[in-house]
Amino acid sequence: MAALILDGKAVAQKTEAALSERVNALKEKSGGQTPILATILVGGDPASATYVRMKQNACKRVGMESIAVEMPESTTTEQLLAKIEELNANPNCHGILLQHPVPEQIDERLCFDSIALEKDVDGVTCLGFGRMAMGEFAYGSATPQGIMRLLEAYDIPLSGKHAVVVGRSPILGKPMAMMLLNANATVTICHSRTENLPAMIATADIVVGAVGKPEFIKAEWIKDGAVVVDAGYHPGGVGDIELAPLHDRAAALTPVPGGVGPMTINTLILQSVDAGEKKMA
Ligand code: NAP
Repeated sequence: MAALILDGKAVAQKTEAALSERVNALKEKSGGQTPILATILVGGDPASATYVRMKQNACKRVGMESIAVEMPESTTTEQLLAKIEELNANPNCHGILLQHPVPEQIDERLCFDSIALEKDVDGVTCLGFGRMAMGEFAYGSATPQGIMRLLEAYDIPLSGKHAVVVGRSPILGKPMAMMLLNANATVTICHSRTENLPAMIATADIVVGAVGKPEFIKAEWIKDGAVVVDAGYHPGGVGDIELAPLHDRAAALTPVPGGVGPMTINTLILQSVDAGEKKMA
C-alpha cells in the first residue's frame, strides 16, 4: 500500500489563492488598507531570521502588509514588553508574531503572554491555549493548527482513533494533544521521561513526531496503516521520524520538507487575515 502524501505545500498554495481574494476584498472596502502582521525578531540567530523572512514573504504573496521589528541580542524583557505594548495599542497592527526562541536573558513566557488575545495570531499565549483547550475561540498555535488543517484537508478520520504525540512543548506538543482531543481522538502524550516509547508508539493509529531530534522515531516502531505526521525539520531535509521505510507501510504521511512546515506559515497568515477581517469588516 502506498502512503497517501499529505502535501502541505499544495494545501498552503491553494489556501493562499483564497486568502489573496479576501485581502483584496478588504482593501476595496477600506480604501486600500490590508491586514497587517507585525513580526518581532530579537537577536541575530540566522535560522530565526530565515523563518521571519519566510513569514514576511508569505504576507506579500497574499497582498498583506507587515511591520518588521528587529531588536538587538542585548534586548531586555522590559524593552521587549514595551515594544509588544506599542503594537498592542497600534490600531493598524492586527497580528503579532514574536519569533521563538528569544535570547536567554528575556522572559519569553512573560513576553508571549503580553500579546493581546485578539492579536495572538500565532497562538502562543497561555490565555489562548486555555481557551482553545476548553473549546472556546482562540487562534491556535500555528504548527499544531496547521497540522489539524492538513489532516482535515485530506479527510483523515480522528474520532475514536488513538493519537500518540511525542513531545510536550508549549507551542507544539501540548496544543497538538488538546486539538486532537477536541477532535475526539484518544490521546497519549509522550516525552523524554516516557518509559518504553517504542511500545507506546506501536499502539498509535496517528503518530505526531515533535521531538526536535533527527529521525529519532524509528519506522519499525510504527504499525502498518498508521497516519504519520512529522513536525520536525533538520538540515539535510529530514524530520523527527524515519519516514523513508513508511512510504509503503503507512496509510498517510507528511513529507519533509513540504508537509507541516508550509502549513505552519500558512496558518499564521490565515489567522492574521481572520484578525484583520474582525477589526476592519
Ligand atoms: P522542544 O521545545 O525542544 O520540545 C521537544 C519535546 O520532545 C519535549 O517535550 C521533550 O520532552 C521531547 N523529547 C526530547 N527527547 C525525547 C525523547 N528521548 N523521548 C521522547 N520525547 C523526547 O521542541 P519543539 O519546539 O516542540 O519542536 C519539535 C520539533 O518540531 C523540532 O524538530 C522543530 O524543529 C519542529 N518544529 C517545526 C515547526 C514547523 O513550522 N514545521 C515549528 C516548530 C517546531 P521533555 O518535555 O520531557 O523535555
